[in-house]
Amino acid sequence: MSDDPTIFEQIITGDIPGRIVYESDTVAAFLDANPLAPGHTLVVPKEAYERLDEMPAHVATDLWAAVQELTPRIESAVDADATTIGVNNGEAAGQEVPHVHVHVVPRFEGDGGGPIHAVAGGRPDLSEGELDEIAAAIETV
Ligand code: AMP
Repeated sequence: MSDDPTIFEQIITGDIPGRIVYESDTVAAFLDANPLAPGHTLVVPKEAYERLDEMPAHVATDLWAAVQELTPRIESAVDADATTIGVNNGEAAGQEVPHVHVHVVPRFEGDGGGPIHAVAGGRPDLSEGELDEIAAAIETV
């Protein structure tokens, strides 16, 4: 963790403007400044952990509870048909702000967007053996 406050910490402390829509002891949420859709909201731990696995379990629990609570409110606020919910977890995945944030992106019938399956480029052609190896590596790590 860097000592400099992240842009999201500065929004939470009020040092830079933001449209905060939710706050608890550990979690805050605010509108994305460059929304992919009306109502695009970022849900963040108040403390800046860069990656998901760096968050203490209780903070992760609070974060997901906030996502779950906010999602229907966001959908209803903008009359969305659905939401895509995701985390860019690391630079290679497109993470620009080194402070965990869950994107809640309202979706609308016929909005022209794709599913989460579209984010990772082409699909790899993996053999049964390779799949077994990967599953075993994940299971034992
Ligand atoms: P990511 O690429 O997952 O790190 O996404 C960072 C997100 O933060 C982008 O969707 C930006 O539009 C958003 N963002 C950056 N600066 C601000 C800000 N000052 N207020 C609200 N959202 C911001």
